[in-house]
Amino acid sequence: MNKKNFYITTPIYYPSAKLHIGHAYCTTIADAIARFKRLAGYDVFFLTGSDEHGQKIQRTAESQGVTPLEYVDKIVEGFQELWQRLNISNNDFIRTSEPRHQKVVQEIFKKIQDKGDIYKGSYTGLYCTPCESYWTEHQLDENGCCPDCHRPVEKVSEEAYFFKLSNYADRILDHIEKNPDFIVPTSRRNEMINFIKQGLEDLCISRTSFDWGIPVPDDEKHVIYVWFDAVINYITPFYDDPDRFQKFWPADIHLVGKEIVRFHSIIWPAMLMAADLPLPKQIYGHGWLITDSGKMSKSVGNVVDPMLLIDEFSADAIRYFLLREITLGQDGNFNRDALITRINSDLANDLGNLLHRTLNMINKFQGGIVNAFDGESEIDKSLKNDAINTATEYKNLMENIQLSDAVKKVWTFISRANKYIDETMPWKLAKDETQKQTLSNTLYNLVESLRIISILISPLMPSTAQKIFEQLNLNDFEKIQIEDALTFGKFPINHKINKPQQLFPRIEVK
Ligand SMILES: [Zn+2]
Repeated sequence: MNKKNFYITTPIYYPSAKLHIGHAYCTTIADAIARFKRLAGYDVFFLTGSDEHGQKIQRTAESQGVTPLEYVDKIVEGFQELWQRLNISNNDFIRTSEPRHQKVVQEIFKKIQDKGDIYKGSYTGLYCTPCESYWTEHQLDENGCCPDCHRPVEKVSEEAYFFKLSNYADRILDHIEKNPDFIVPTSRRNEMINFIKQGLEDLCISRTSFDWGIPVPDDEKHVIYVWFDAVINYITPFYDDPDRFQKFWPADIHLVGKEIVRFHSIIWPAMLMAADLPLPKQIYGHGWLITDSGKMSKSVGNVVDPMLLIDEFSADAIRYFLLREITLGQDGNFNRDALITRINSDLANDLGNLLHRTLNMINKFQGGIVNAFDGESEIDKSLKNDAINTATEYKNLMENIQLSDAVKKVWTFISRANKYIDETMPWKLAKDETQKQTLSNTLYNLVESLRIISILISPLMPSTAQKIFEQLNLNDFEKIQIEDALTFGKFPINHKINKPQQLFPRIEVK
């Protein structure tokens, strides 16, 4: 069978400081989508990385008395450790300081230059150093500051290379209008259309004021503008490998924060057009995580460190909260009390109790053996229907990247299964010799529901799903497919399950 391919990326993060929960949010979404696609039988390539060049990094490194590379090495190590702790299943990690990336950037630069869409000129502009961005007068905010970060800009003049972005305005507008799903959500799409309609100016894509970057081919006193360098990371892993390039490019989704949609939906496509390469299928702009004291920022001092949260609550609890609480595309609120409430009610209580009660009863009433079922009551039938409907709807929601709704669907079914225990009262059945088969049926249905639940939550909370699998004493967790959740009755009979173990301890609220 011909495997379907799927390629998803996160932005590559800037190593000027440790990552905060907002970065963890974006990467967790991408991971859940990547894992779901694998579960649905796709051959998935999932890329993340670090965007390491630029004046800001060079200045910070100098102020600390280290080279830029020494400075970023240490921070990027922290990125990679965080993704490992958060159970992120990326297939590759791009560092823009790597030779393999430098080579591709220079090749793309040369290709566009040979075509005549890169030319040398002189640039005087208003520059925002934190954003590494030049702005024109009319783009500045009402205070004459950077429209992205609202910090002051400075007037800079230098000899520079330019990319003929203006050549591509009509083609990009046309592409956005003909492909309604190219930029999601619609609010971002409309912003981009308006932005292009104001006219696109050629983009200055080189700098001479510092040297921490990729040199312009054959003109080494210039380094390539950090954004031009960074977006190319998405093709770096397979640019030199025609088979893999064919297989994974164009990307299915570039998942990005809403503040960088512009670079991904205008500049990057124009670069690809200039290099005669296909455009990504979708740019998805997600919202921001807001804390109770506003948008997270270092200067406000309200940055939430995901590593500390993982230490305290476990990676899966954090993943669950991020995927469940925030509707993709909108801003979401990060709040510690809400996190603890979710852990206690949804994870320790609903999911934890369902597993614990079910396994306990099988151990107590049937010596740990799952018996064959025979016949079904109306309640059984309704539980089975709910299980299949949940799995089917979940699959559709995940395919449409409605992650939060997919999570809610599964938890509605978990509540339903807990209610089934109260309705059927297995402890009563166990006391009645004539109800033996009914008891076996009931416990079978519960353990089978747990098998299905563990498959559905595997993209969201991979280690919890695996723990449930292990407690059910099922094998081949790595091989499960979404189809395995769409049929009720696959749980093996005369099967010995394990002793229940706690999935999530309750968090004491002080
Ligand atoms: Zn700025």
